[in-house]
Amino acid sequence: MLELRKVYHYYGKAKALEEVNLSVEKGSLDAVIGPNGAGKSTLLRAISGLEEIDRGRITFEGERIDEMEAHDIARRGIAHCPERRRLFYDMTVMENIELGAYALKDRSKYSGLLDLVFDIFPRLDERRKQRSGTLSGGEQQMLAIARSLMSNPKFLLLDEPSLGLAPKVKDKIFKAIEVIKEEGTTALLVEQDAVLAMQVADNIFVLEDGKIEMSGTREELEREPRIKKVYLGI
Ligand code: ATP
Repeated sequence: MLELRKVYHYYGKAKALEEVNLSVEKGSLDAVIGPNGAGKSTLLRAISGLEEIDRGRITFEGERIDEMEAHDIARRGIAHCPERRRLFYDMTVMENIELGAYALKDRSKYSGLLDLVFDIFPRLDERRKQRSGTLSGGEQQMLAIARSLMSNPKFLLLDEPSLGLAPKVKDKIFKAIEVIKEEGTTALLVEQDAVLAMQVADNIFVLEDGKIEMSGTREELEREPRIKKVYLGI
């Protein structure tokens, strides 16, 4: 469904992505793990058109998207849920959710999607009228994901969904991500918490210093001594 071939991205002279090859099958939930500064956010930004790549190609459902504007990529069904949540803090939970539905092409889907996000995140249902700036970190992350889901994406990009959250809250978010997958949305998430990411992902890509150093299923990566040591601490 999504394919990156030999993708390079530079910030000035600094290489952020180098010869990145990656593909995600329809219906899959895949993860990119890697340390701070490895290029994970850049990779998602390149897919959603927020960064222009310097070399290579990105295709989505067989169509080349790397030369398109971000809004055209979004229109094809790719939703980007960015790191650090980027909510409108002065607006209520419901207003943020409605903003997410702004990109919804088929308005008849609105109420079904609303039911779905409140089903996945009952906490948000209870807090519909609350100003989003006053939500807890975990609730803000839930709202960011809920907002992305309201555009009824075919493909969801999730940047560090566990960032800054307590372990229990992280688990909740990841359970929700699994439900989203079961509902039929394909997703690619980037995560520093490798243990958590590997629990849910069908395929894992290890990004280090801008390069995909390894990829495979959880079982395959768990057999690699370096992955065990560096990422799983076992
Ligand atoms: P983190 O988890 O800390 O966000 P990351 O894996 O997402 O890390 P990126 O944010 O993609 O990594 O950054 C990759 C590299 O590119 C880093 O060395 C970073 O300093 C650099 N970088 C990121 N954004 C910019 C920018 N706008 N201008 C210049 N350099 C940048």
